[in-house]
Amino acid sequence: MAAYKPLPLFRARVLVTLVVLFCLAGTFFLPSCKAQAATIVLDPGHGGYDGGAPSGNEFAEKQFTLALAQKIAGLLAARHRVELTRSSDIEMAPADRAAVANHLQADLMISLHAAVAPYCSNRTAAVYYHNDDRLSIPSGTSIQDTAIESDTGRPAWFRLQIRHQHQSQHLAAMIKRSIGETGAFDSVTVSGVPLVTLMGADLPAVLVEVGCIHPAAAPDPKTLTEQLNGYAESIANAIETAVAGLAQ
Ligand SMILES: [Zn+2]
Repeated sequence: MAAYKPLPLFRARVLVTLVVLFCLAGTFFLPSCKAQAATIVLDPGHGGYDGGAPSGNEFAEKQFTLALAQKIAGLLAARHRVELTRSSDIEMAPADRAAVANHLQADLMISLHAAVAPYCSNRTAAVYYHNDDRLSIPSGTSIQDTAIESDTGRPAWFRLQIRHQHQSQHLAAMIKRSIGETGAFDSVTVSGVPLVTLMGADLPAVLVEVGCIHPAAAPDPKTLTEQLNGYAESIANAIETAVAGLAQ
């Protein structure tokens, strides 16, 4: 066995300098080095007593969205910090979902939902961004929210998303293009609508609706798994594209 010989100090310094210079050059010239790790919040829609769209007796939209979020998180976790607003079957108020993303100072938030048959298909998807600040103040909101707005110039929480509307619209367009390119969908639409879940989100945020839940029939487990895998891959790819796009 050869004896270990330490590098002379000068050669060690040159080596470290070369590594640093190579890494700096990589961030400018190599596209893969440009991609920054982002904090992504995935919000599985519904939960607890709120099952969302029912499907048969045992399965509901709340399980569909949680399974989808976990699969997307699994695909992104190696490169990004991914947090779920809920990781079990618990009830969550809409404002609390946005609060999770705000608290983490996340880069983007994707709320996940499914559509309900008969007005949908497994080959269609819809992407929504929040587009209305004329919503009435939700019941339970304290008067202080309004006072804070007028006293400090900081918008009340239910208007936070409006500040990011342009970026959220851009994010929705990127996600539409990216999931459209995967071939998993025949049609992907983008709409701006009032979204209670996202109106308090102080970051670019969209709601993605995939799948088609049939209230009268539970899905075949094998088909469901294949669908969820396909949706998860499409949405994870779209998020990667969006992270790179929002950084530019
Ligand atoms: Zn839903």
